Amino acid sequence: MVPFPAKERLGKLRQLMSQEGLDFCVLAGPENMNYFSCFQAITYTRPIRFVVGGDETHLIVPALEEEHAASAAADAFHVYYEHPPKAVECPSAFAILKNILAKKANPVVGVEYGVITLGNAQMLESWGCRLVNISPALTQMRAIKDEYEKDCIREAGRLCRYAMGVSLKHARPGITELEFEQYGTTALYDLISGEDYPYVFSSPTCFTPSGVERTNMPHVFSGLRKFQEGDMVIHVRKPAINGCHGELERTFFVGKPKPEAERAFKAMVEAQMAVLDAIRPGVVAKEMDALARRVLGVEEENIHEFFGAVEHPIFFNTCKKHHFHLPAYARVIIRDVRTLKPLPMGEVGLVNLITPLINATPVTSVMTDDLGFLTPGEDCGCGLKSPYLTVLGRAGLNDITTCAAGAAELLGKGEMP
Ligand SMILES: [Zn+2]
Repeated sequence: MVPFPAKERLGKLRQLMSQEGLDFCVLAGPENMNYFSCFQAITYTRPIRFVVGGDETHLIVPALEEEHAASAAADAFHVYYEHPPKAVECPSAFAILKNILAKKANPVVGVEYGVITLGNAQMLESWGCRLVNISPALTQMRAIKDEYEKDCIREAGRLCRYAMGVSLKHARPGITELEFEQYGTTALYDLISGEDYPYVFSSPTCFTPSGVERTNMPHVFSGLRKFQEGDMVIHVRKPAINGCHGELERTFFVGKPKPEAERAFKAMVEAQMAVLDAIRPGVVAKEMDALARRVLGVEEENIHEFFGAVEHPIFFNTCKKHHFHLPAYARVIIRDVRTLKPLPMGEVGLVNLITPLINATPVTSVMTDDLGFLTPGEDCGCGLKSPYLTVLGRAGLNDITTCAAGAAELLGKGEMP
């Protein structure tokens, strides 16, 4: 295991401090405190601060963390207490902090604007501190991984792969998502339990959504759904090692996939391989996303929306720029809401749909409850010349619905529409 690079990381932070003219940095975000001190608290329900000065560091912790904090990389440890008699005799967390910062009159202090509360900021200012936001600089610093983090990420990756391999052997119809995960998780615990495992393991996090229909739980929480023959399953594992997550996600089928699922899976693999082949230094994620979409044939201009109505069954399909140009079989007149007189191009009014194509009922011309307007076709730029319709939504009351929606509601109640 690569040793914790406390000196190198502090060196970078002090470089930032001298560039920005900072006397201290007061860190409060658990991830940032851990990044510079290697300290991970049992709980962050009480104030914990890591203070970096020009030539010393201070860790302020509650008594609960006293023993545990001793292994952190800090020059001075300050413990505060919540129970008598020490709670009365010893200074509180913020009294300790004030005392450290008082070594310099009106110090310039780097703080994480993305972490500390307004109350905390005002308190520091009331002590004469001038605050500077170091959140963006810390984010940038942490984005570039050092050897210690790479080592942790590799270990997390090894655990992902091992546990997933075990779980996959147990994929079969009738097993629940949670049981499937548990095989890998138990094997993982067996692998790393024992005195000589050098890393800090936390979070065996798994997600295993199976089948097509999900519950109303957000996204992909695993549950008691049992795998069925032909299911497409996504299994995700993301164990954390010393705060660094690995992640492995695989899609697989239980038994034989349905033909359409197999086709979708193959298309996904093809798109993914195209992206993997094209990845090199300097390309951005957006370009890779566009490449995958090109392979799948779902470029922007291939995404269409259509519009129609039961009483006007004409297919309005959007052009490649997503506009509803009027088809050859229909005309639209936009009418004034009060007088029903036709309005000029561009003005908003009620949408009147006209078509000669309906034989069954005499509904050549239909007044809808929709508000909309027309735009000259040339303004679109797609090459189509007929004007295009923009529907803004329903006019008037909320409870006006389309005929189809109204009929569905009545049929649902067992009444004749
Ligand atoms: Zn167009």
